[in-house]
Amino acid sequence: MTRVLKFGGTSVATPERMRQVAALARAALDASPLVVLSATAQTTDRLHAAARAAERNDGRDAEAAVHEIVARHDELVRGLFGDAVPRSLSDALDEELSALGRKLEGVRLLGELSPRSLDSIVSTGEFLSTRIFAAWLAREELDGEWFDVRRVLRTDPRHGEAEPDAAAIRELCRRELAERLAPRRIVVTQGYVGATSGGATTTLGRGGSDWSAALLGAALDADEVQIWTDVEGVFTADPRIVPEARSIPELSFAEAAELAAFGAKVLHPKTIQPAVERRIPVTVRHTARPDGRFTTIRAEATSGRPLAALASRSPVTLVTLSSTRMLDQAGFLARVFEVFGRHGASIDVIATAEVSVSLTVEADAPLERLRAELEPFARFDVVPERAIVAIVGERLKRTRGAAAKVLAAAGDCHVELISMGANEINLSLVVARDDERELVKRLHAALLGPPGG
Ligand code: ADP
Ligand code: ASP
Ligand code: MG
Repeated sequence: MTRVLKFGGTSVATPERMRQVAALARAALDASPLVVLSATAQTTDRLHAAARAAERNDGRDAEAAVHEIVARHDELVRGLFGDAVPRSLSDALDEELSALGRKLEGVRLLGELSPRSLDSIVSTGEFLSTRIFAAWLAREELDGEWFDVRRVLRTDPRHGEAEPDAAAIRELCRRELAERLAPRRIVVTQGYVGATSGGATTTLGRGGSDWSAALLGAALDADEVQIWTDVEGVFTADPRIVPEARSIPELSFAEAAELAAFGAKVLHPKTIQPAVERRIPVTVRHTARPDGRFTTIRAEATSGRPLAALASRSPVTLVTLSSTRMLDQAGFLARVFEVFGRHGASIDVIATAEVSVSLTVEADAPLERLRAELEPFARFDVVPERAIVAIVGERLKRTRGAAAKVLAAAGDCHVELISMGANEINLSLVVARDDERELVKRLHAALLGPPGG
């Protein structure tokens, strides 16, 4: 049995945090820990910026971004090792950084940045952080090894948003990783990164390290997947919007999945799916306050409250289609879904009436192509700059008057669309983006505020 501990960007960005990470890995020694690390905070952003600058032949901006990456990692390494930086570490970092320099130069010379090249560039952050951490473990005389996650985390070639192949990952983990995991030793590997069967580096999408941890945990039948971050668990709302928000002790898989999908950044939206399949508990904890509160997400758990938490997401676009009555209602909806599906425009919130349907799509959905196909059958109205605010709770469906309370609390924040999710644990509202924060605050105060919520 193994335990997966994933640490996010802020958890590995300073010497002090990295020492804490080592202490937490040490505390998990008996559980055969697999430590999954993100890039240090802001590194992935800087790598993206460098790649884009190189593509537009802006050598100065690309260099500035790389310089910042080098300086931050240098500071981290000096803070940990002082002047006694192990040779093997400086060699490994030099190798990563000079490869990065060559890749960026290639992009600049060609004036072309393919999704494949971009993945190869932006994955550098996770290789740097894991090299440094593995060297620090050795310094602390902890037994363990650095492991290249590309040996096991097989994905399809959709660069930037690669889709993992769970069956292949399981098989590869069994062959390549399982025997390295043992009590008293720590294996360190990268989040966010994967590889195709042909060996090309891929990434799982921004914030994807949580997902990596869950995928590896599921493949290895871990006893727990721990997501260590900079908050004490999943809160009743984003604490940056609602300072009074509180950590929730227990959530069901469905509640957590819904919150993540509707914008709770603390968990990547896909994290819960692999855990559900193997019924592995996921906990969310604060790296700097390991003895503080935390959240446990499990199948049999529930927040125990009608309303567990709020999440919100923006920008989204609201599309309203009104049938020109050339089709009956069933034919109309079938047509709409077919066209959206074919163009890969995923629908989040939807409400239907007899001859019209309103729905939200991502802000970058191919609206003109959708319009061209649907306009012969329907009026096609588009309202951009909207936000979805989701109210999530396992017992929402059994709570009388929930919608009335929600609308009363919204007050003059104009709700343009309201929809009860098919699983009945999510009540979603669509509002103007300018009202998003205010609505979250009002709903939290009215529905989740003290005492008791
Ligand atoms: P990491 O780098 O560790 O993956 P993230 O920045 O991705 O960390 O996620 C943690 C952040 O998520 C928190 O600092 C918090 O601002 C934000 N967040 C948004 N919604 C919630 C929520 N409901 N509960 C806790 N944190 C939330
Ligand atoms: N480093 C990646 C990102 O910033 C993945 C992650 O942090 O989860 O998106
Ligand atoms: Mg994250």
